[in-house]
Amino acid sequence: MPISIPIFRQETVLNPVQSPKRRVPRSKSAAAVQAGKAQGAPRERKCSVARTVTILSDAWTFLVIREAFFGAHRFEEFRTMLEIPRATLTDRLQRLVAEEIFRRIEYSETSSWVEYRLTRSGMDLYPTFMALMQFGDNWLSEKHGVPLQLIHTQCEQVTKPYVGCSHCREKVVARRVSYRDGPGSGSVVVEPMKRSRRSSDDNQFNRGRPSSVSRALQVIGDRWSFLVIREAFFGARRFDKLQSELGIAPNILSDRLTRLVDRGIFMKRMYQSGPDRFEYLLTPMGFDLYGPLIMMMAWGDKWRSNGKAPLVLTHLDCGHDFTPMVLCSECREPIAAHSMQYRMRYNPDRFGGKKSSRALPG
Ligand SMILES: [Zn+2]
Ligand SMILES: [Zn+2]
Repeated sequence: MPISIPIFRQETVLNPVQSPKRRVPRSKSAAAVQAGKAQGAPRERKCSVARTVTILSDAWTFLVIREAFFGAHRFEEFRTMLEIPRATLTDRLQRLVAEEIFRRIEYSETSSWVEYRLTRSGMDLYPTFMALMQFGDNWLSEKHGVPLQLIHTQCEQVTKPYVGCSHCREKVVARRVSYRDGPGSGSVVVEPMKRSRRSSDDNQFNRGRPSSVSRALQVIGDRWSFLVIREAFFGARRFDKLQSELGIAPNILSDRLTRLVDRGIFMKRMYQSGPDRFEYLLTPMGFDLYGPLIMMMAWGDKWRSNGKAPLVLTHLDCGHDFTPMVLCSECREPIAAHSMQYRMRYNPDRFGGKKSSRALPG
């Protein structure tokens, strides 16, 4: 059964999905998006999710970050663990240094010993990885089993981290959150995407060790797919609405919707016949992407928005504005990379044999 209530409820304005005939701009940023369109350049809402997704939705970039969480520092370590072509690895490492997710450390001018270390913003992607991992464990692990069991060293318990509210620490679900424009709201010109192809990336996500994070990203797909899912959380269900919000080409949108229906994220429902028209509703599995999505938003707010969040979230259960956090299911304290250990449910010797004391999003 699809759940058909739009999740990001905005308090001040009528929900456009419920009142399709009265076109009420949802917000200043929505109006700005419209204004931008009038001037010809495709624009979309400013969004911290998009900023984070741009980084994570490249399969190789994602895999390199994951191996860094598993303790890889050196070029050869990344290369052998991922069987990644040298030129590709060089390119991704450069990008990650430019994005300030990695820091390049040269030990001396004469030695060729170079290491890549996660910066603070890189380490801070850990909770986002954990949220994606939980999604993968919940929905995508039946055939293969859960690859990693996590132990929270702070409370010494086996834990299943969840995305919760920074104020009341309760689990956050989409329908219990409202939003309003934050200090960083507005619209931006849609960045042209270098590649609209995505099929080759699908399998790349699965390289190397078994990983629920990889499975999650593989199901979600590329950056466009993420953005389509995000718009669904804003209440967009219909093709035209999605197209106008995202400035996406119809053939690409139609490809991504078909794929997301195949993967179980959306359900297609006819809302009009002769001519037949369909809308796309999030399934329960689709709804469960809310946690990872708002974790990406939180990371983007913190590291890519100069502290000016485009959106402020309010938790309706406790009535407070909140920052999403990944919390331990046992002690409800925030999870960080240094306070987690893991047990592998697979033989690590097959994947470079790297053992790290740090817990890794598997
Ligand atoms: Zn709360
Ligand atoms: Zn704990």
